[in-house]
Amino acid sequence: MFLNSKRIIEEGDLVLIWISRTVIRPVYLKKDEALQTKFGHFLHNDMIGRPFGSQISATQGRGFVHVLAPTPELWALSLPHRTQIVYSPDSSYIIHRLQIRPDSKVVEAGTGSGALTHALARAVGTDGTIFTYEYHEDRHMQAVKEFKDHELSDIITCTHRNVCEDGFQIEKPTLATAVFLDLPAPWTAIPKLFEGEILNRKEAVHICCFSPCIEQVSKTVKVLEEHGFQSIEMVENQAKRWEGHESMVRSVDEALDVLRDVRKRRNMGIERRKRKRLVSEVEAEQSEEDKKLLRGDYDNPVVYNPWGKGERVKEGDDGYKWAPVSTIEPEIKNHTSYLTFALLPPLQD
Ligand code: SAM
Repeated sequence: MFLNSKRIIEEGDLVLIWISRTVIRPVYLKKDEALQTKFGHFLHNDMIGRPFGSQISATQGRGFVHVLAPTPELWALSLPHRTQIVYSPDSSYIIHRLQIRPDSKVVEAGTGSGALTHALARAVGTDGTIFTYEYHEDRHMQAVKEFKDHELSDIITCTHRNVCEDGFQIEKPTLATAVFLDLPAPWTAIPKLFEGEILNRKEAVHICCFSPCIEQVSKTVKVLEEHGFQSIEMVENQAKRWEGHESMVRSVDEALDVLRDVRKRRNMGIERRKRKRLVSEVEAEQSEEDKKLLRGDYDNPVVYNPWGKGERVKEGDDGYKWAPVSTIEPEIKNHTSYLTFALLPPLQD
């Protein structure tokens, strides 16, 4: 489901229905059921058998939605939040910096809403394992169910545990080469990584601690140093979307022409209103021809004015001068925290 992308939607599939940029709804498709949204009523039958990515029209009206295949990125935008989560701008960077690849073994605490766990699971694939720990029982149970529903149980091992008190050890060795800690006090969990066969000490181990306050970072760095971690670096990921487009270039002469045009139109408007009043006063007694003469340009179509009403000009149209400009869209979803990375070198034989 989250690991392999298939082309055609089948009954029973989890699909992510893109309703708008801010509303994506996870839905399991069932024959003869429907999704009700403020944009209309959408039949599951219209989605089953279509390729993922299809646009589906409402049964009535002009509303439409897109039916998308689940990915960790879209899941992070649509999942039922149980906690703060790690969004894709951070998760992609974390996976890259922790050098997670197909077959990696990763230790994660806490599981929270499982947003990052999905991204980690896809990165390690069926040859790797994510060992994730959560001390809140309901959250742990919900995560276990969700990973099972998403066919990720073979990759993700969930443990209900307070890692800061009881450590990371489970029945089997985890031998991880990557650790991600999204906990209020990661510095209390770091010493526990050295109890039992948690880390693969034959290889370099990369760690990332995700903390919103700089005081937490200071405490984490101190404990990382005490435990032999090196190359300690803190990063803040400020995700911004830059949008490029072309803006019409206007010369001073053109701006003056526009001002003149506005004045002319204002005068024409005054004139038209006067004529209209006059027309209605005398119209009853005039022939059609006289009425037209009396109306003057009252019925004439308006010619193009690039800054006013009239013919529409599309960005980049010939006949105008355009300059490339960019704007920033800052509201990209991202739980901004400090990312503290470090490296634990392998033990020498
Ligand atoms: N990274 C997760 C995601 O992307 O969905 C969100 C993690 S959430 C911010 C932090 C989680 O850590 C919470 O669910 C909390 O219950 C759990 N937690 C806090 N302290 C813990 C501990 N000592 N042991 C295990 N889990 C803990």
